[in-house]
Amino acid sequence: MPRDFLQGVRDRYDVVVIGSGLGGLTAANLLGRAGHRVLLLEQHYKLGGLATWFRRPGGHIFDISLHGFPVGMIKSCRRYWNREIADQIVPLERVRFDNPMFSLTTTYDREDFTRLLVERFGVAAETVRAFFDTARGMNFYGDQQETVGQLFERFFPGRRDIVRLLMEPIVYANGSTLEDPALTYGIVFSNFMSKGVYIFQGGTDRLMSLMHQELRRNGVDVRIRCEADEILVEHGRISGVRVWGRTIGARAVVSNANLRATIFQLMETSHFDPDFLEQARKVRLNTSSTQVYMALKPDQSIDESTGDLLFSSTAEQFRTDLLLSPQITSRTFSFYYPRTRPQGRPRHAIVASTNARYEDWKHLSPDAYQAAKRELIETSLEALEKYVPGCRERIEWVEAATPLTFERYTKHVGGASFGTKFEGLGVSRALPTQVHGLYHAGSVGIIMSGWLGAINYGVIVANDVDSLLMPPSTPRRTSSVVAGK
Ligand SMILES: Cc1cc2nc3c(=O)[nH]c(=O)nc-3n(C[C@H](O)[C@H](O)[C@H](O)COP(=O)(O)OP(=O)(O)OC[C@H]3O[C@@H](n4cnc5c(N)ncnc54)[C@H](O)[C@@H]3O)c2cc1C
Repeated sequence: MPRDFLQGVRDRYDVVVIGSGLGGLTAANLLGRAGHRVLLLEQHYKLGGLATWFRRPGGHIFDISLHGFPVGMIKSCRRYWNREIADQIVPLERVRFDNPMFSLTTTYDREDFTRLLVERFGVAAETVRAFFDTARGMNFYGDQQETVGQLFERFFPGRRDIVRLLMEPIVYANGSTLEDPALTYGIVFSNFMSKGVYIFQGGTDRLMSLMHQELRRNGVDVRIRCEADEILVEHGRISGVRVWGRTIGARAVVSNANLRATIFQLMETSHFDPDFLEQARKVRLNTSSTQVYMALKPDQSIDESTGDLLFSSTAEQFRTDLLLSPQITSRTFSFYYPRTRPQGRPRHAIVASTNARYEDWKHLSPDAYQAAKRELIETSLEALEKYVPGCRERIEWVEAATPLTFERYTKHVGGASFGTKFEGLGVSRALPTQVHGLYHAGSVGIIMSGWLGAINYGVIVANDVDSLLMPPSTPRRTSSVVAGK
């Protein structure tokens, strides 16, 4: 008889959170901490969504999306999770670029970028200052017409090398393109530039274990292997969810699933206005990724001067369409040294990532799919040889993930790595106006994606839900959610 993954679950909660990505986890944690009865349903057998990991023989652990995030994670984790988690966030020391236009190593912060732009790329200091100030000053209420490409042209006309330096990591960090609103670039770039790139020391496995402990402390009922089949609505209000054939009542639902899946797969479309559905249909998904996970033999090591994060490309010019092409010319290598997991066995791992289109993988026959994966591994090893000589003999485990892998494990439509394009944010925020008690907290709009964006969106939505659940006569407790402990 199959195990009952809902054993002991109540018939009713204040709120059900669907999905344990960073947005769902954070919303659940804050709502639990605020005293609401929270059920968190995750369809996979692990927590974390895209922020997860897997283990392979030989003591190798691979992180899926632990490559780098802005310093703001420290504050968000301290306020909305706990100090122990925040204290394990550490800066990356070496971010490298290597392409036909330039090779350099940087700490990837405003000071070092200013130095590079002035001394190496010959830009006037006041132009650099004006660019940084403009990027920093961008917000939702400003101009949303200017594109990223136009922003660069305004400050650095004709400078394709500078566009490459400024844009390549951000394309990688949130899938944005030169055609997206400049706002999506400005906010993410400024977040990184404030103090460089950070990661979680201990690895995603440790992070998820600490987050799970905190959820339990806050009384959240966490259930893995529990796929929500349907979000239930009665008379325009959330009434609960259906999972494993059971109906569980709730006054509110926070979906951390893909926005399009939330609207078109988990709900009856009859619950929405036709105009809203039209807007929702127009929401474009972000692109997907491929990854090649490589682990060195235990007696092998990589010198730390190789860098932590390496943006490598063999393309003569920087073009976002080239970044998506199946004929890969650009790869981001993340190098994980034993210090990444001080608690584990001393191991060196490398993850090679590229942006990718779901459509390029979706229609392959099973044989062609396997062949394409082998090709991806081969070309990744070839590219790595330049930075880790003799890598083929030194590596003992290698495997590849594709857009289909990300789709399979997270149920993201199109295997999207960063949710939706900009227009997804408005649709996500409008859900409660369509169905009372329905919320979405997951990667949307480029800005609300990535580790920091997803966590911060979880906070925003937890506040909304807290306000809904509080009886009108009760003094507002929202501050307990916003301010954290
Ligand atoms: C290859 C790759 C590399 C990345 N690198 C970085 C990086 O270096 N830095 C960075 O900041 N960001 C990175 N990201 C992006 C970042 O990981 C994501 O934006 C973020 O983790 C998404 O969080 P989320 O809250 O939107 O939820 P997701 O991680 O998308 O999780 C959604 C969860 O919902 C669950 N779910 C879906 N449907 C159901 C259902 N019906 N019932 C129950 N559960 C369901 C899924 O199983 C999943 O656990 C990367 C992404 C990828 C793919």
